Amino acid sequence: YKNAPPSVREVWLSTLQFADRPYLVYQDERLTYGEAHEIANSTANWLLAQGVKPGDRVAIAMRNYPEWMLIYWACLAVGITVVGMNAWWTAEEMDYGLSDSAPKVLFLDAERLARVQEKPDMVKGMQLVGVRIPDMPAGLIDWSVVAAHGGALPEVTVDPDSDACIFYTSGTTGFPKGAQLTHRGCVSNLFNMLFAGASSALAVERATGVSPPAEPPIPVTLITTPLFHVTANNCGAYATTAAGGKLVLMYRWEAGEALRIIEKERVSSMSGVPVMARELINHPDFEKTDTSSLLALAGGGAQVPPDLVLKIEKQVATARPSTGYGMTETCGIITSVSGDFFVDKPDSAGPAMPSFEAKCVDDNGKTVGPGEVGELWVRGSSVIKGYINRPEATAASITDGWLHTGDVARIDEDGFIFIVDRKKDMVLRGGENIYCAEVESSIYRHNGVAECCVFGVPDDRLGEEVGVAVVAKPGEALSAEAVREHCAAIMAKHKVPRYIWMLDEPLPRNASGKFLKRELRDKLTPKVSA
Ligand code: ATP
Ligand code: MG
Repeated sequence: YKNAPPSVREVWLSTLQFADRPYLVYQDERLTYGEAHEIANSTANWLLAQGVKPGDRVAIAMRNYPEWMLIYWACLAVGITVVGMNAWWTAEEMDYGLSDSAPKVLFLDAERLARVQEKPDMVKGMQLVGVRIPDMPAGLIDWSVVAAHGGALPEVTVDPDSDACIFYTSGTTGFPKGAQLTHRGCVSNLFNMLFAGASSALAVERATGVSPPAEPPIPVTLITTPLFHVTANNCGAYATTAAGGKLVLMYRWEAGEALRIIEKERVSSMSGVPVMARELINHPDFEKTDTSSLLALAGGGAQVPPDLVLKIEKQVATARPSTGYGMTETCGIITSVSGDFFVDKPDSAGPAMPSFEAKCVDDNGKTVGPGEVGELWVRGSSVIKGYINRPEATAASITDGWLHTGDVARIDEDGFIFIVDRKKDMVLRGGENIYCAEVESSIYRHNGVAECCVFGVPDDRLGEEVGVAVVAKPGEALSAEAVREHCAAIMAKHKVPRYIWMLDEPLPRNASGKFLKRELRDKLTPKVSA
């Protein structure tokens, strides 16, 4: 991207042209772009006045309040690195994150403050700013002081290869690692997002002959996942902000509430994981809700089961299914697909975005043939610099600029990438690889299934057997036997789950909204160790 702005500072500054437009919406609160700039400028000036310098780190530990984005833009505009602390972390995990990233200032809300108070040593030497804390304890600075500091945005040249932010991986397969996302990486991802949007409009034009409008509609994005992950932040928030759109923030995900917001705010897309789109269309209020503003639905961050792609296409009047496959380690999307292309290949995650080269390799790092399955490696300007304080993990994940995604995939003759499974999740049954995502997709074809999660269960004879946890849709009398029969009818015998657990509660999820596979497996098969 030769003409891309060098750093996120320029991206943020360019949004001044939208000064009068609504920007951040949270419950009854609204801020325009102009107001957001004023507060971000104040924050940047306040931080510099405290002696925080470009290159230093500042951490944010709070829910998706509007302040999250304001502090974020303030820091990046002057070259201060933001550490996105996972708001779900316990006191112990916060302690780990803070000692790992060593920020100078910590912005935190009441819940995170309570966790800090459990282990006060974790914030030693840091300046604390309380956001939305009714009874501010002594020693904390109130956010209102920071927001009212005033001043114009200081002139700072931001190095494109410096760290824009440290985001921790979701911790789906192990302990969260602090990924270093550079300014160049974040800007490249933004351009990939804009490319994905423009190319989906072009694809619609090619398929239907209907030209996209000269003035594209102003996006309205519902942010349903936490801002400390790339799905919500670098993908949802960036693309919307750069286009002068409106960001609607939710305190916590709830499908009924999301439907009310979609109707009220005229939401055009929702940034979240696929299971949320499924909950939305399964919700009893879905039919009664005016969702005609929705243009795209499905989301990314996890496999979109093909039945969901086709259901969205059929059941949601205006929205086309769309997804992106990406990682914290790539500042956001690697691939994207929507509309007709997605409907034609509903099990694909789409082609690699322009800033990436992609290949699948065998266990020796040798490229496999087209259509053959191997670990996906990608290279390009949005690959992270590395993980902070983990030189071995960095060396093990990045070879010659090629990021080892840890995902098993195949690339077809059109360049479409099919994510088959995570390398660590594959079930090895009697020498045969079984891909959890494929088995899950088949199970979702049963209409009574609301959620399912497949994992390997240790077995003395075969090494591993297939196990699945299933949650039925409300009011469905679905038995394990019925699930087994459904599977036996549509999949090869060795893939049919030997263990089927019917659960009454929704499956446990992490902050990103992904199922906690390891936790489920350990709970349901108590003898298994990690
Ligand atoms: P950790 O690395 O800490 O175990 P994580 O991998 O879940 O956690 P993220 O960076 O949030 O952390 O997620 C990236 C992973 O999510 C990818 O490597 C891939 O396995 C999965 N993923 C993301 N998008 C998709 C998609 N569209 N289809 C399939 N899988 C996806
Ligand atoms: Mg990962």
